[in-house]
Amino acid sequence: MPPEICPNCGAILPPTAKVCPECGSDEKTGWSETAYASSLGLPDENFNYDEFVKEEFNPSLARPRGIHWLWWLTALILVILFLIFCLH
Ligand SMILES: [Zn+2]
Repeated sequence: MPPEICPNCGAILPPTAKVCPECGSDEKTGWSETAYASSLGLPDENFNYDEFVKEEFNPSLARPRGIHWLWWLTALILVILFLIFCLH
């Protein structure tokens, strides 16, 4: 998706424009996604996404969030075993 305004010459671009009608710049020469994002002062989405994935799927980097489900499972098994032995 092109920017609304050509970052190269400032011409207003149609939403479907692949190339600037004024100066002929396109994704390769004029408006990259990075240049468009930085011109709006937005954070780099790719960087944040990588950090998110790293924290979400790497157990050593993940922050502790309450009790791990494995401990709940262990407690449940212990309770079941306790009930089985009591009912005999
Ligand atoms: Zn242009």
